[in-house]
Amino acid sequence: MLTLTPDDILLDCHADDWQAALDHAAEALLQAGLTADGYREGLHAREAQSSTFLGNAIAIPHGTPESREHVRATGVRVLQFPQGIDWHDGNRVHVLVTIAAQSDEHLEILRQLTHVLDREGISERLAAADSRGEIAGLLSKTVVEPRLDADTLCLGFPARDSQELALAAAARLRQAGCVENAFVATVADQAPRALGQGLWLVASDLGVTQPALALATPAHPLNIGDAGLVGVFCLAAQGDAHHGLLERLVTLLESGSAGDLAGADAATVLARLAGETASAITATVRVLNAHGLHARPAKQLVQVARAQGVSIRVRLAEGSGQAVSATSLTKVIGLGARRGQPLLFSIDGSDLPADAAERALAAVCRAVTEGLGEAVAPFDEGREHHLPEPEVIIEPLVENEPQTAVAASPGLAIAPAFVLRLPRFEYPERAGDPATENRRLDAALLEGEDQLEALVRQARGGEVAQILSMHEEMLKDSELHQAAREGIAEGASAEAAWWHAIETAARAQEMLADRLLAERAADLRDVGRRVLGILCNVALPKPPDSPYILVADDLGPSDVARLDTARVRGLLTARGGATAHSAILARALGIPAAVGAGERVLTLSNDTLLILDGDRGRYTVAPSEERLASAEQRLADQRRREAEAWEARHQPAATRDGHRVEVAANLGNTAHAQDAVERGAEGVGLLRTEFIFMAHAAMPDLMTQVEEYREATEALDGRPLVARTLDVGGDKPLPYWPVPREDNPFLGLRGIRLALTRPEVLETQLRALLMAAAPAAESEQAPAAGVKAPAAGVDKKSRPLRIMLPMVKDLGEFRQARAIYDRLLEEIPETERATDVQLGVMIEIPSAALLAPTLAPEVDFFSVGTNDLTQYALAIDRGHPELSAQSDGLHPAVLRLIQLTVQAAHAQGKWVGVCGELASDATAVPVLVGLGVDELSVSARQVPLVKARLREFDLEEARAQATLALAQPTAEAVRDALEVR
Ligand code: PEP
Ligand code: MG
Repeated sequence: MLTLTPDDILLDCHADDWQAALDHAAEALLQAGLTADGYREGLHAREAQSSTFLGNAIAIPHGTPESREHVRATGVRVLQFPQGIDWHDGNRVHVLVTIAAQSDEHLEILRQLTHVLDREGISERLAAADSRGEIAGLLSKTVVEPRLDADTLCLGFPARDSQELALAAAARLRQAGCVENAFVATVADQAPRALGQGLWLVASDLGVTQPALALATPAHPLNIGDAGLVGVFCLAAQGDAHHGLLERLVTLLESGSAGDLAGADAATVLARLAGETASAITATVRVLNAHGLHARPAKQLVQVARAQGVSIRVRLAEGSGQAVSATSLTKVIGLGARRGQPLLFSIDGSDLPADAAERALAAVCRAVTEGLGEAVAPFDEGREHHLPEPEVIIEPLVENEPQTAVAASPGLAIAPAFVLRLPRFEYPERAGDPATENRRLDAALLEGEDQLEALVRQARGGEVAQILSMHEEMLKDSELHQAAREGIAEGASAEAAWWHAIETAARAQEMLADRLLAERAADLRDVGRRVLGILCNVALPKPPDSPYILVADDLGPSDVARLDTARVRGLLTARGGATAHSAILARALGIPAAVGAGERVLTLSNDTLLILDGDRGRYTVAPSEERLASAEQRLADQRRREAEAWEARHQPAATRDGHRVEVAANLGNTAHAQDAVERGAEGVGLLRTEFIFMAHAAMPDLMTQVEEYREATEALDGRPLVARTLDVGGDKPLPYWPVPREDNPFLGLRGIRLALTRPEVLETQLRALLMAAAPAAESEQAPAAGVKAPAAGVDKKSRPLRIMLPMVKDLGEFRQARAIYDRLLEEIPETERATDVQLGVMIEIPSAALLAPTLAPEVDFFSVGTNDLTQYALAIDRGHPELSAQSDGLHPAVLRLIQLTVQAAHAQGKWVGVCGELASDATAVPVLVGLGVDELSVSARQVPLVKARLREFDLEEARAQATLALAQPTAEAVRDALEVR
């Protein structure tokens, strides 16, 4: 979009003639650093070919294609000449919009200017403007494209009345992403209004994201009142941006061809709405010009069309475009036609001999095919479908040398690589014969089912078999088949129609409140790819039957969750960071992983032997026999250590010299509390309560929450529960608590900030937590089935509750929440609520760490969330595909913030936990203990290993490691320094 800033505009320019004005423009581009010297000649050469005058006192000088080598960056400069210049073609120019464009970006600029040109009095206003802002405002009118295309049509819908049709049309608009639920709700309340000729209309401007027009027609003839019902239009109105759509309706009614829509297919409906009557004679031709229909070829086209002496209209053959007069230069440029796009020319043949119309159409089509005055090359759809990828030079991997990546999940793995490369599918969007496409789709669906059945048989039970059976069910879904067939009926190829149906269903799935259901979107796409692979004759990668290390670009959490843990020994990804959710899941599943290894790992051949060290974030390609033997020895040691750690998991966590550091588990689901205890957790150190909220379709009420939390307090059987209050907003949206769109969600309404905007929600949660941790009645004291008897010294009656507030930045926020908490303690009778209870804050924002001395007197404890603390201290998005690899919690800046926090807390007799991913990093454990951290909370699976790690050093050593780490300048230096010890 042309977004002009005042700096792009030069007011009050003067030139004696048009050549001097061009020189002035060239100089402006040069001064702005957009072009080099040679571009000036390009501007003159282009003007010598034909005038760049556009209309309404505006000319748009730009260089010839040959002069593009002098363009350094794409941009524009606008020069105002209040006195005007006589242009060489006899027109008077007041504004030059001078373009430096490397490819066809200037087409978009032209397209926008054509909208400006239609406005009356614009040339006088441009000449008289005395501020740069005014000129920018006059030229930068934002163009909102209204939608009307095959996706907004719902033809042959089995409705019983006009209201059902109206709703079907509204639902289409919602599926097309043009409206939200509020729009559909208002349509449901409306009675359709008669437009005449059997057409009806519903309209609203509520919940509209893009102006659009939908049409639903009935599958069977319907009557409404005395008249037959042809169809119901549904208009999503927005400002004046939908006026063009209304004009189309009026044109349709004026032409008297509304009846043609009854039972019509999408192409006919779109043609009538584009202004073509049933008697129109049409011809389609592809634009071949490298840079589309820019000003010069458009001008040629207009001249050829004018020479025919009949009224010719033209539109883009695909999409929603309205037909425009082929003799209007601004309208033709306004089409924005790019190379490869087909144009549809039409002539109303009602009062014209058919051969005259055909001759005229043949002439314009020939002119387009011949390039409209430019040399053109034929269009090869297969080759031009995708833009060429920029060439990336990737260093080859050196064999037998450890390579660095980011440690994401501990453990050592030795196995051949299996590189997951998703194939590229290339296919035409449109196809000629729907019957053939339907047959192709049927065959591909059958073959897909056969493939899946064979895989289920091979998998012989277990999680993988379950997932594959679910894929089989998805493949049989008749709604998916129906959606694809509708696409085919509208002229799409089997591939395009199928993928569109899959994407639409996957997107709808992603919107579901239930997180697990939402994650099924990835499964749908998997199924979709299988069928697409069959249609395009492209084989999908098949993992080997023997153990392997999975090498991939990146893996989503659902990919990781679906890994066949029996065969995947390790994960190595090109992108991702240690705190990405896929890495967190890999740790939860106990699969060693190194991430952020760079694209070159994707160049590995399948079966290349790899050693993957998830503790250090290293991997070695094709190791020598010697290195392999030593890695195998380490692996055997590791297995022995794991077995020993498991044996000792119920011993209290302490360093070799007996310094106690509690080791607790991080949970997102209270049902897993019992498992955490079984793994040796001494409590829950972080209950991410937002996952409980996300698993409900609506805000869980008080008693639902009490039940959820009680599941944890009961399973913990006297061990402490540290529950974090709702931490949503930003990147973790809660579907039933919408937050306005934000440019920087990580710096927006999230955590406690968001919770405080609805204190009643926070109050209910605090109340539920307090109630769930009320001391157990005598009858409840028997240990739950499968739970070990409580460790010695655990008071069975008590249910210690620690509540912590997420994303607190300072004391002000803490006090607001504390006020609610204090009131609840007063209000709820002591017998009905927790008595052993504390209120603390998470240290996740650097300001909170820096202000810890002011927080410590008022809070009961701190828990350091190193994932977010690192993100905010280092200004690196924790989920950034490339940068998050540098987001290392062992960075000395983060360690200093933890040190400040611990010092401030201990000075007030308060305790400090660490519940971010750093707490389970074997290198970081002694450093955190040395800094004085009292509790480490890690994923349940890591509990035995972290306890074992604590037993490997004493407090003195830990302090020395902390001192060493704090003195380093970078995270790498910290890791190096600790490794050589
Ligand atoms: C953290 O930020 O370190 C943390 C534990 O919270 P979460 O990962 O849930 O944001
Ligand atoms: Mg956090």
